[in-house]
Amino acid sequence: MKGPSYSAAELLARLVRFDTTSHKSNLPLVRFVEDYLAQHGIASQLVPSADGAKASLYATIGPAAVPGVALSGHTDVVPVEGQSWTSDPFELAERDGCLYGRGTADMKGFLACVLAAVPDLLRRQLAIPVHIAFSYDEEIGCLGVRPLIAELGRRFVHPRLVIVGEPTSMSVVDSHKGPVRWRIDIRGRAAHSSMAPLGVNAIAVAGRIIAELARIEEELKAAPRDDRFDPPYATLQVTRIAGGTATNIVPVSCHLDFDVRALPGVDIQAIDRRLRAFAGVCTADMRRVASEAGIDIAITNEVPPFAAGAGSEAVALALRLAGQNETHAVSYATEAGLFQAAGSPSVVIGPGDIAQAHSADEWIAKDQLDKCMGFLARLGDWAERGKPIR
Ligand SMILES: [Zn+2]
Repeated sequence: MKGPSYSAAELLARLVRFDTTSHKSNLPLVRFVEDYLAQHGIASQLVPSADGAKASLYATIGPAAVPGVALSGHTDVVPVEGQSWTSDPFELAERDGCLYGRGTADMKGFLACVLAAVPDLLRRQLAIPVHIAFSYDEEIGCLGVRPLIAELGRRFVHPRLVIVGEPTSMSVVDSHKGPVRWRIDIRGRAAHSSMAPLGVNAIAVAGRIIAELARIEEELKAAPRDDRFDPPYATLQVTRIAGGTATNIVPVSCHLDFDVRALPGVDIQAIDRRLRAFAGVCTADMRRVASEAGIDIAITNEVPPFAAGAGSEAVALALRLAGQNETHAVSYATEAGLFQAAGSPSVVIGPGDIAQAHSADEWIAKDQLDKCMGFLARLGDWAERGKPIR
């Protein structure tokens, strides 16, 4: 079957036109991809979200029963609200060799390259298949890829390795930090503020917890550094706080969120245990006044840090295909940590610069798309011959 052939830029224009901001449905984009692949005789398999409003797409080019190379990308983009754009963010605009539009860098540029490479991959007799794995809700905590990963080894063959095409300017990234987010809910007891000892001030307890978090932050900063990262240590920030009801009432409740950007190797459970132990001390103090007082702690989102590790086959292949001999570490998170944790060696390499991601007038240089197409053509060469990577 001979399906249509488009350039990466042409496909990017189509993909940008779908407003796939994370809180919206990505199904129109998924149907477009499904249809495009079907025209090439490739069947897509969808992994829908619980409410059916979104879906991940998985498809295989080449021998279906053989573990292959998965090309992973997310279909969702961050909101444009509050940003000042020169042109319509959902209409691709070319200026001076750059393509402007929401998601051009992060990361519809990569998706477009993958789709544009399909006719070339189909022409080959692939010994090693290429899997397409497009997810949703990456931007709100790598949520959509998790049900897809759960199907690896079940509905789908476990990929031999995974290439995550987040924007790295086509350099090879073998490690990244992992964001972990906590929510803390503090219940005190309300009282007239003139009768403060009758109440338990939930905001004051939040203050004690924030001071403990600041101590943990300092210790993370003082821990052995990894200069490949910028900053070279794990960070901890209180990111949101809300509490109190009126200026003359002892606050009955307070909640706060904080996030840790963990380096590979940081013990998240140890941080969680320490926090809970400290909260236990605070709770005992609160309950001397109010037996109903308490503190709830929950990890609301955790994306594992990613470290490909020495001798990674995924990194070796990416370096060879990219013609490079040096790897990099980044502070932003990707789906690579989740794929790696699920047992598929992963690597991050994709077109576009993370500096343009999430910003107004997001753009990708056209030559980045060309570089990615070259990379995918060399991947096709390798997958056709099925030679050992080293
Ligand atoms: Zn991204």
